[in-house]
Amino acid sequence: MKFQRARPVSDIIVYQPGKPVEELERELGIADSIKVASNENPLGPSPKALAALNGATRELHRYPDGGGFYLKNALAEHHGLAPANFVLGNGTNEVLEILAHAYLDPGDPVVFSEGAFIVYHIVSQLTSCEIRRAPMRDYHQDLDALADLVCEKTKIVFLANPNNPTGTAVGEGKLREFLGKIPQSTLVVMDEAYCHYAHLEDYPDAARMLGEFPNLVAMRTFSKVYGLAGLRVGYGVADEEVAGAMESVREPFNVNSLALVAAQAALEDTDHVERSVAVNAEGREYFVYELSAMGLPFVPTQGNFMMVEVGEAMGVYEALLREGVIVRPVVGYGFPRHLRISIGTPQENEAVIKALYKVLNI
Ligand SMILES: *Cc1c(COP(=O)(O)O)cnc(C)c1O
Repeated sequence: MKFQRARPVSDIIVYQPGKPVEELERELGIADSIKVASNENPLGPSPKALAALNGATRELHRYPDGGGFYLKNALAEHHGLAPANFVLGNGTNEVLEILAHAYLDPGDPVVFSEGAFIVYHIVSQLTSCEIRRAPMRDYHQDLDALADLVCEKTKIVFLANPNNPTGTAVGEGKLREFLGKIPQSTLVVMDEAYCHYAHLEDYPDAARMLGEFPNLVAMRTFSKVYGLAGLRVGYGVADEEVAGAMESVREPFNVNSLALVAAQAALEDTDHVERSVAVNAEGREYFVYELSAMGLPFVPTQGNFMMVEVGEAMGVYEALLREGVIVRPVVGYGFPRHLRISIGTPQENEAVIKALYKVLNI
């Protein structure tokens, strides 16, 4: 075909999702595989969200509330801000894209770290930006190196806190020091998809710092601790000017009506959040203990996943698949010797460790 693509696509980076359970089970002819590849909540969706969905299905012939009135009001209360500070999206992924549409022109410099969440790269190439990436330092996003890459013309800096796939996080002291060096006209995205799991002592809440730093844009998702990845809903928190600019370029009905209702119920389901965080903390300790006993190096995590050094990772990934265990290769992030493993239920965690013993001949 000779259709002319919109922009050079020779080195375009494409998102590689975790392998779906159904696909592996079809391939292997088995029925009990486990997926610890996409950092989903192993406890499932918030029960309150599920209950709320029951009532909402009767209205599926209606368009959703395009303004997300109730969810934005609930979020405003949750964060102590105004509804006008919020932008909803079909997952955080879409909110990042909306931000790019609102603020990025071809050639604009954007800055993020090597080994940072790949979607920053994807939305930057979507708008043909000039991507500047700072090397990581010991699996951490290096804030000094990032600040060095920022100039007056830099439109956006992306920081994942905690980062995926490394699981490392930035504390408030370091973040403040960094923000002090960044021009006020540069937006700093703090992607807090895993904030509930972070246990760093001075873990910052970017939405709370908006008054002081109006160039911050916090990103949150309902895909992780709230257990609603399948519904696709996330949000951005920003200064009203920024949120308004984003609102003006989004699709009219970008969040579906079931997602709106479920997200609002999940936000208020503190029991489910607390249980999810507790199960994760327990699983994290289990992995730290077991991986240490196995002599496998890992990156200490602030998230619900761990990056483990296994050697030639693609081979180990394939061997784990044959054991019915789906983990995530991170070679695309520049880590060809690591696998990213989501922390699951105790049973899942045990199965992962057992499979690792077998596959690695330990
Ligand atoms: C999982 C994840 C998200 C959430 O993306 P959704 O589109 O909301 O599912 C955002 N940022 C990071 C770093 C993630 O790992």
